[in-house]
Amino acid sequence: MKNVIIIGSGIGGLIAGNLLAKKGHKVTIFEAHSMPGGYTAGFYRKGYYFESGTLSFEASASVFKAMKDIGVFDQIEFSKQRLRLVSEDFDGTPENYDDYKKMIYDGFPSEKEKLDTVFSVLDETVSLMGNVDEPMPFLFSGLDMFKSMLPYIKSAPKQAKLAKQFGNMTSSEFAAQYFAKDSKLFGLFSGFGYPDMPAMFLGSGIAGMFADYWTVKGGMQSWADILAENFRKLGGDLKLNSYVDKIITKNGAAVGVSCKNTVYNADYVISAGDYKKTFLKLLDDQSLVPQELRDNLESAAVSEGFCTVYLGLNMSNQELGQYMKVPHVFTYDHKPGYDIYNSDDEEFFSKTSVSLYSPSMVNPEHAPAGKSSLMLQTIVPYHWMNNWGGGDKEVYTQLKGKAMEAMIDSAARLVPGLKDCIEFKDAATPLTYERFTHNTDGATSAWSWNPKKKFFKNTLSVNIETPAKNLYIGSCWAMQIGGVPGALAAAYQCVKKIN
Ligand SMILES: Cc1cc2nc3c(=O)[nH]c(=O)nc-3n(C[C@H](O)[C@H](O)[C@H](O)COP(=O)(O)OP(=O)(O)OC[C@H]3O[C@@H](n4cnc5c(N)ncnc54)[C@H](O)[C@@H]3O)c2cc1C
Repeated sequence: MKNVIIIGSGIGGLIAGNLLAKKGHKVTIFEAHSMPGGYTAGFYRKGYYFESGTLSFEASASVFKAMKDIGVFDQIEFSKQRLRLVSEDFDGTPENYDDYKKMIYDGFPSEKEKLDTVFSVLDETVSLMGNVDEPMPFLFSGLDMFKSMLPYIKSAPKQAKLAKQFGNMTSSEFAAQYFAKDSKLFGLFSGFGYPDMPAMFLGSGIAGMFADYWTVKGGMQSWADILAENFRKLGGDLKLNSYVDKIITKNGAAVGVSCKNTVYNADYVISAGDYKKTFLKLLDDQSLVPQELRDNLESAAVSEGFCTVYLGLNMSNQELGQYMKVPHVFTYDHKPGYDIYNSDDEEFFSKTSVSLYSPSMVNPEHAPAGKSSLMLQTIVPYHWMNNWGGGDKEVYTQLKGKAMEAMIDSAARLVPGLKDCIEFKDAATPLTYERFTHNTDGATSAWSWNPKKKFFKNTLSVNIETPAKNLYIGSCWAMQIGGVPGALAAAYQCVKKIN
């Protein structure tokens, strides 16, 4: 039996904790926040439930396998989501990738020839998505791992060919080959997902949105709570409100952590939170971080943060449903001048599109009887307006208010009467996300998705090793493009290391 300390109770920390406790190890999870969950959390205000940020996940086969391995799958009601996409030119709720293509062709009939070329490329990259019913190889060991890798080994030559063509190309560069930069179709293809994401993932990203998009009916917090409870039942110790301020090393190996002036010893430490802070802030012996790694860490770009508005509405789910049709709606109506790289544009939030998500349409228990809840989200430029006011609390409050009102205005175009029935409103900025999860700049999905700004050489590799012996990374930051799959893969790799 080994003594393992995990820093962070996001999905990565909770999965690693459960699997290690199940193997019979003595595991303690330290969580800075008062609730477990990290980015997969939620909260109640005035009887309304909101997801804190993450609304959904893909890679369901991996998530389901992890929950089965832990033994909690039957306690969680996963619910497949359908997305509605709305713009001036189209409005549809595609069942699948082919439906999506048809919707775009119908919306832009005069662009058929260019769309044929674009989709012929995307169709090829869609095939790289693999079988959505199969878990990632990282979740297996030994022969099972080898077997699950076979489809990837078979498609390796095709992958290599596509990687050569598109591996280093951004979605903007891809879209610019076919469409004028001020055109709607350029905006559509360059602005899918994260800004300047790899062109290589565009097809599978779009297809995945329809084939494999899930949420938890009870809310993300219920998921984290079930994992936390199971962890405790397995003998694990989850310490909430417990910020770890140092990872303690001896002779180059992690031997424990310090929290609230107390030292806790361990055979292994898994850092299941922010990568940069693990090395630059928590590690006690900074000489363990080679200068090259330090330089890379300091300059490495992280994924963009989100702004989220939380609204409690005196509007029934039925009425909201008439406007929304499904719980999750993406609008594509950026206004002229929209520029995700312009951090000084005070009017950014009047120009950006918002997505709308109603937790109470997924589960009516998420709002008081006869009422509904709505969340609005948009990606934000890095350090908008001198990082939201340069540390001045009053300016921050003004900027947050301005952003919130502009996003509500935007959503009111889809939901008439929205502004008249708001009973509760609040917002989270990237600074809020950093405060609650300690992720650098409120990065939503680990490192930058831009293939030209990679921290790890291989976008899909899982990098849990650190320069300190017995210290591993168990969070989404172990993978370039993070997300729930990144956290899962990292957790499993850490568990395999500890026998
Ligand atoms: C708005 C939004 C939308 C998203 N949408 C998707 C999506 O559609 N699909 C998808 O796959 N992913 C999505 N993601 C990303 C995904 O949610 C995260 O990548 C994933 O949940 C991260 O899990 P994690 O366990 O690695 O870390 P986190 O969830 O960040 O958890 C880290 C935990 O560690 C704790 N912690 C950190 N430092 C310390 C310390 N020193 N001491 C104690 N505790 C500490 C934090 O408080 C936190 O609870 C989204 C994220 C956001 C914000």
